[in-house]
Amino acid sequence: MDERGKIVKSFTRSFVALFALPTGLAAQNLALTEAVVLNPADESIHRGVVVIEDGRIRGLTDALPPDFDGPTLSLGDRYVIPALADLHTHSFGNASPGGMPQLLGPQGTARAALYTGVAFVLDLFSPEDMILGFRDGQRADGPQGATLFAAGPCLTATNGHCSEYGVPTRIVDTPEDARREVADLAGKAPDVVKIVYDHQSYGGRSMPTVDLATLTAVLESARQHGLRTVVHIGTWQDVRDAVLAGADAITHTPGPQPPPADLAALMVESGTYHIPTLAVQSEFARMVDDPGLLDDPLLTETVPQALRDMYRDFDPSQSAFQSWLEYQRILGQPSSEAVKHLADAGVPMLAGTDGGNPGVFQGYSVHRELELFEAAGLPRWAVLRSATTDAARFLGRRWGVEPGDEATLLILDASPLESIGHTKRIHAVIQTGVVVDRQTLRVW
Ligand SMILES: [Zn+2]
Repeated sequence: MDERGKIVKSFTRSFVALFALPTGLAAQNLALTEAVVLNPADESIHRGVVVIEDGRIRGLTDALPPDFDGPTLSLGDRYVIPALADLHTHSFGNASPGGMPQLLGPQGTARAALYTGVAFVLDLFSPEDMILGFRDGQRADGPQGATLFAAGPCLTATNGHCSEYGVPTRIVDTPEDARREVADLAGKAPDVVKIVYDHQSYGGRSMPTVDLATLTAVLESARQHGLRTVVHIGTWQDVRDAVLAGADAITHTPGPQPPPADLAALMVESGTYHIPTLAVQSEFARMVDDPGLLDDPLLTETVPQALRDMYRDFDPSQSAFQSWLEYQRILGQPSSEAVKHLADAGVPMLAGTDGGNPGVFQGYSVHRELELFEAAGLPRWAVLRSATTDAARFLGRRWGVEPGDEATLLILDASPLESIGHTKRIHAVIQTGVVVDRQTLRVW
């Protein structure tokens, strides 16, 4: 680093330190000056001041309003975007391809996510009372990391996907089961209802799955209780069935066959969101082929060397993961093309990592998912929406850069409109108007 670099770095450190507070403190007033504000919702760019009052955006102005009462933070023409979200994760930590996983628990996962600028996560299956209790605790005491939304259990057929992990879940084999379980679950107010409807066979193996009548009963009961739904699907026919039965979102991307020609229009007409999870479907194979991916600076800050080395030293020829890797290599390109096709037709995409699975890492892999959307050919504004304003709409929570929005923001050293990989160039994370002290989040 040259002398100028050093001065800039120490200046940066001091001004962030000046306002950095432990996370979870009450929202405050803050003005961000010399800001370049990117609003993915309307693709607008504002150069000037972001005025935050009581943790919410008061407005974007050209100059500091004379009546503003609070600290100011000069960004030196850095970029401000709404903080990111992960719409598909499992909050236990990070998987390993062999040996011990990194067990973070929901608190550690929430911290790792916020460290990487991911301020909202949707857990789509964890032990029910633990995860919903953790969420309720956050709502009472403040998040101390990313804000968690949770499904609780993963509804599935007897011996269906989700039942193989030794984590108790809710079994639905008939429409009657579906109505009873959803009604009971609704008493705990999950943020979404997650159900598996999957007729794909992976490497010649398939698992039992609910029938269409049971799927339909789950989705209808959820709607009656005012709950949104996310359906884990395996084939394009599964997608069609889920969309016609009224799913709010489907997750994962079938392949290698392309989507049927009429499906995109059907999804747009039905307002179905797609959470493709390209990273979990392809990153493991990519890391085996190119271990240099494990040296990304943000990844090295959030995942211990020992875990990254397990991926580096992984011998696929000796492993039970072999067929999964082969599947990833076959699926990578077609699923990326499918996402491009659906997005071009207007299907709203949501960034989700399926964190907790091999090849993806809590928080960090949201950035990878965005890079994979970019590589698939999605416009950068659309890529940003998938983890910010569209994610907020799906979760029913407003954060971002418009008046009244919760001021939970990401400040970047370089423009994500130049390269989406610049979302990893994190200068600061702001949570409800408070500059997060990212170093205190590091519990790993
Ligand atoms: Zn999952």
